[in-house]
Amino acid sequence: MNEFSLSKTYDFQAVEKRLYEWWEEAGFFKPPENPRGEPYVISMPPPNVTGELHLGHAMFVALEDMMIRYQRMKGREALWVPGSDHAGIATQLQVEKHLMKTENLRRDDIGREEFVRRTWEWKRKHGGMITNQLRRLGASCDWTRERFTLDEGLSRAVREAFYQYYKQGLIYRDSYLINWSPGLKTAVSDLEVEYTEEQGTLYYFKYPIVDSDENIPVATTRPETILGDTAVAVHPEDDRYKHLVGKSCLVPILNREIPVIADEYVDREFGTGALKITPGHDPHDYEIGARHNLEVISVLNKDASMNEEAGPYQGLDRYECRKKLWEDMKAAGLTLREEDYTMQVPRSQRGGEVIEPMVSTQWFVRMEPLAKPALEAVRSGEIKIIPERFTKVYYNWLENIRDWCISRQLWWGHRIPAWYCADCDHITVAIKDPDHCEECGSTNIEQDPDVLDTWFSSGLWPFSTLGWPEETEDMARFYPTTMMETGYDILFFWVARMIISGLAFTDSVPFTEVYLHGLVRDEHGRKMSKTLGNVIDPLEVMDTYGTDALRFTLLTGSTPGQDLNLSLKRVEANRNFANKLWNAGRLVLHSIQNASADPENKVEHTLADRWILTRHNQLKKDVERLFDSYQYGEAGRQIYDFFWSEFADWYLEISKLQMAEGGDRASQTASTMIKVFDECLRMLHPFTPYVTEELWSHLKTTCLAHPAEFTPEEGWAEALIIASWPDIESGFEDAEKFELVKDLVRSIRNIRAEKNVPAKREIPAIIKAGESRELLQSQAQILSALARLDKDRLEIVENLDEVPDNAVPIVVGSVEAYLPLKGMLDLDQERKRLSEELKSNEEQIRRLEKLLASPFAEKAPDDVVAKERERLQGFQDTAERLRIQISSLGENE
Ligand SMILES: [Zn+2]
Repeated sequence: MNEFSLSKTYDFQAVEKRLYEWWEEAGFFKPPENPRGEPYVISMPPPNVTGELHLGHAMFVALEDMMIRYQRMKGREALWVPGSDHAGIATQLQVEKHLMKTENLRRDDIGREEFVRRTWEWKRKHGGMITNQLRRLGASCDWTRERFTLDEGLSRAVREAFYQYYKQGLIYRDSYLINWSPGLKTAVSDLEVEYTEEQGTLYYFKYPIVDSDENIPVATTRPETILGDTAVAVHPEDDRYKHLVGKSCLVPILNREIPVIADEYVDREFGTGALKITPGHDPHDYEIGARHNLEVISVLNKDASMNEEAGPYQGLDRYECRKKLWEDMKAAGLTLREEDYTMQVPRSQRGGEVIEPMVSTQWFVRMEPLAKPALEAVRSGEIKIIPERFTKVYYNWLENIRDWCISRQLWWGHRIPAWYCADCDHITVAIKDPDHCEECGSTNIEQDPDVLDTWFSSGLWPFSTLGWPEETEDMARFYPTTMMETGYDILFFWVARMIISGLAFTDSVPFTEVYLHGLVRDEHGRKMSKTLGNVIDPLEVMDTYGTDALRFTLLTGSTPGQDLNLSLKRVEANRNFANKLWNAGRLVLHSIQNASADPENKVEHTLADRWILTRHNQLKKDVERLFDSYQYGEAGRQIYDFFWSEFADWYLEISKLQMAEGGDRASQTASTMIKVFDECLRMLHPFTPYVTEELWSHLKTTCLAHPAEFTPEEGWAEALIIASWPDIESGFEDAEKFELVKDLVRSIRNIRAEKNVPAKREIPAIIKAGESRELLQSQAQILSALARLDKDRLEIVENLDEVPDNAVPIVVGSVEAYLPLKGMLDLDQERKRLSEELKSNEEQIRRLEKLLASPFAEKAPDDVVAKERERLQGFQDTAERLRIQISSLGENE
């Protein structure tokens, strides 16, 4: 009877969508009610709402889904909260681009209100795509709790957070030097600036001292900033310039008078030892300027063209101005020389343009007081960072933190909840939109046009998604969350800021564990990029090899904090693993159906049963230990190895012999197969959810139609996703004896392969077993079946008086096996094979001898000739060995 037989191959395309829909509809992704189970909560790193799936998403989904599925099966109240991020700049740029392409309009042409309306429309149209792609990856997150950083609840949380910080003096508005992105026309935070090493020029010129013939030589990489200089600084103890301190000098071309000042910050050894000070366009100069009360002059417009402060250069682009000014200075005899110079150029992380430090009025978060408790939370061990080496990086950043510029000159995002009064200049910050100034009552108020940095809202993610600032049931039940899993590249952007805001607003750490994964690179270790053309699209990989294969590759290839080089060959190999599981499943189901429907007595386990059950138990122990120590990849590899090389390759082969005995032995064997197979599926489920769920449901159905003992003690769960994680049991003490049988079989197989014994040919053997005689005698059937020994000519003895003639000896521990050579080989065929091999070798020898005797040996480079000589030697050695082997086969019979 074959009513439950599986299709020949695993068709992932037919399975994945059906299973996912079933899981979701049945409510399996919701945290199970389990009064004894502690909650286990992950907040999903929200992908950009209109982004497209890339391998970074696949990586975090695979890891977090594995963690959640594992904990769910362990009986925890597992909750994975999904959502997406409005992604201020990224989304706004997409919509602007679209607007330009389709209607040839800029955002200013349609105005703020219309632009925001269209962006929402864009989000509604494209926003579902990314979440559907996450579904394809098998993400078992609770979609009924899905959140969006701009939804009503989260907007309320952002207001509350801003308000609280402001009232505590932790948010302030000030004019300060910030990073300005001229193309995007917005401020960006320090983290959004990347420094690249580039070749530039160091321009040396002179500052003429007023009423004197003297000059101070200075150097700059950005001559256009000369126009904004407000001092020249020297070291107070520099004898070259000491006497000039207090005098004035003239800004080239503009002839504006500025002071020569003394400041210990100046490095006497560097350059000319004198520094031009531009507080308006350099962060260090800004600080020096503040110490000396210098004027701050900004010479740039927001698009990085020169403004009225630049005098004759007004209206020029920054780089045109650089050129023109330097030419004019040359003509005026003010230049000294130009030098090539390697410098760190600040570029925008998005777009790549050169960032200009500019003074501008922005909103800031005062970070120092907030950083302290965030440092303490990790130092005290309340939050654990995996891998540990990132702890140092975290400390270092927080110890040297600068205030965070949170205002962005964008339209898409959380608008800053601050209203300016036109009558009294007071700023009203409020949770609900006010209609009057809180100071003077005037209704003549206007809201700040800027929006908040995207990371301000995502920094509240772990608690805003659970309902904060309301005291919701979810907050009470699931907060603080447990695990924060994300890429190490956003440790500062995101993880640190969540810890800071969690401690500030909820009086609690937002999570207790941080697991950082690496980047996914191509198989050669290169970063994937469109320019290199090496981007692997996870959707294509899933179409070709199935989701499980992609997930298993990412999970078993990853080590915390390390980048992973993804090779499609590995994905293919893991697709084969899914097929291996499937084929094993077919065999197990087939055996269940062939087992006696009504076993009489329980029989003892065979040694092979005891061995596989013990090995399986050891695996369960190891996997548990590895999961507890975050070594998920290693756990997956060990399950894979056990399943493939022990269960499938050994036990399932042996099970065929045991099943053939029929009766109680067959039932016993079937129930051992079921036990190990069932629990392997459970352990693999977090890694490869689809193929395991599908096989498990077939296993369950087949078992239910058969004797009761094929059902596990606690019964069958409704689905594997909510089934329980297997318990660790005790193994059998004598199980390791079976290793001797395996070793012996393996050694005989090796010799057979080496000697080219036809696979089907059964051969005789004499085994000198010593103390193991009884053991091997009892396993003779397995030995002869797996090593293809002729069981009528298999002798297992305790001792041998003399070594048999003409036999190949094998030694395994204290056991010796002798395989009589005659009859093992098809001598004629072997002789023929070796002779052919010898012939082709001799041809190579002749060819190389001829080559080396030719003018080639004189003309070619030495190393090339040496290589050819080496090859010749290799062929000669092989030929010699072949001749000996042929002669050992003796004459034709
Ligand atoms: Zn007012």
